[in-house]
Amino acid sequence: MMSPFHISAIALISLILRLILTVHSYNSPLDELSKIRRRISHRTSTPEDSTLHVQPGSSFKVALFADLHFGEDAWTEWGPRQDVNSIKVMSTVLDEEQPDFVVYLGDVVTANNIPIQNSSLYWDQAISPTRDRGIPWASVFGNHDDMPFEWPMEWFSSTGIPPLHCPVNASCPGESEGGKGCSFKGTTRLELMMNELKMNNLSYSKFGPKDLWPSVSNYVLKLSSTDDPESVVAYMYFLDSGGGSYPEVISNAQAEWFNRTSQEINPNSRVPEIIFWHIPNQAYKTVAPRFYAHRNCIGSMFVEKVSAQEAETGMMKLLEGRSSVKAVFVGHNHGLDWCCPYKNMWLCYARHSGYGGYGNWPRGARILEITQQPFSLKSWIRMEDGYVHSEVLLSSSTRKE
Ligand SMILES: [Zn+2]
Repeated sequence: MMSPFHISAIALISLILRLILTVHSYNSPLDELSKIRRRISHRTSTPEDSTLHVQPGSSFKVALFADLHFGEDAWTEWGPRQDVNSIKVMSTVLDEEQPDFVVYLGDVVTANNIPIQNSSLYWDQAISPTRDRGIPWASVFGNHDDMPFEWPMEWFSSTGIPPLHCPVNASCPGESEGGKGCSFKGTTRLELMMNELKMNNLSYSKFGPKDLWPSVSNYVLKLSSTDDPESVVAYMYFLDSGGGSYPEVISNAQAEWFNRTSQEINPNSRVPEIIFWHIPNQAYKTVAPRFYAHRNCIGSMFVEKVSAQEAETGMMKLLEGRSSVKAVFVGHNHGLDWCCPYKNMWLCYARHSGYGGYGNWPRGARILEITQQPFSLKSWIRMEDGYVHSEVLLSSSTRKE
């Protein structure tokens, strides 16, 4: 027979064993992330998987959806109505233009307005018109995508006790426990990206190199001809211009990464390069100060001041040094839609596509058309009502600063 001492010793040992097992079986969010990364590594590790294809003799069309701002004021009738309107804008543009690819150019959601556990619910709604049509896409982050939730002052009642207004049954697709009820911690860039990739086969988005985090979505896609995958038509670079959970900046480390990558894949600047990020950089200020644009600018809205990144840390110098760089595309300023020549390239705004976000200017999307042999990059803006304007040849050799 065992003494009470023996029994408690056995109980103690089994408790320790259980604790060890519990610690071992605990999955931190980072463990989960690395598991998902392994599962999706076929899309992130080999260059082939970052390749888009264009038929010989035909062009490759890209639609830019900028500043959709899904998920605003979900506790009112107004908010969800705006999202429905934004879906209509995207559907119209996609049906009329039939693009081969879509770029979500940041501020896909207004995270500072989303009080649920996982704002991927709204992110998913925003990409649904593209996915439903079987069109592949890529996304970059804007400053609103992972902003912390801001309590609306009107939530505070006269008694001083804030009544909660969270969307009910707001569950994230793919999550059984869902995101029901309120949560105010926000959804990180890594979580948003993880969910986009986990739930979609058509997404070409990437986490980007780990050493650049918290700046996520830094990656490059290659556009090749179907008849000769070795002949590259263009490289498309995507960079996270920050904002939200950290400063609005393209860091030295990102510039270094761009430098290394471009030297490696396009050492002689032989292949044309196109750049996408969300927040304009300082150079945008020099080409179109408020209410005035250099005469070579092409666009329909010049009504705002350029809201540039907080600092310039070398990215622009690198782009200026590469004759292969044709154009940079940004969103962020909803009241600007121009393209202006700058040194060897064009600096372009997209067009505010969403009913969310500030400003009531009519919505639309910038379209890019890439042709090969010889290479050309043409762009125009397609409005929600079908009107097309501001056509510009961005590969034109006549451009001057
Ligand atoms: Zn915006």
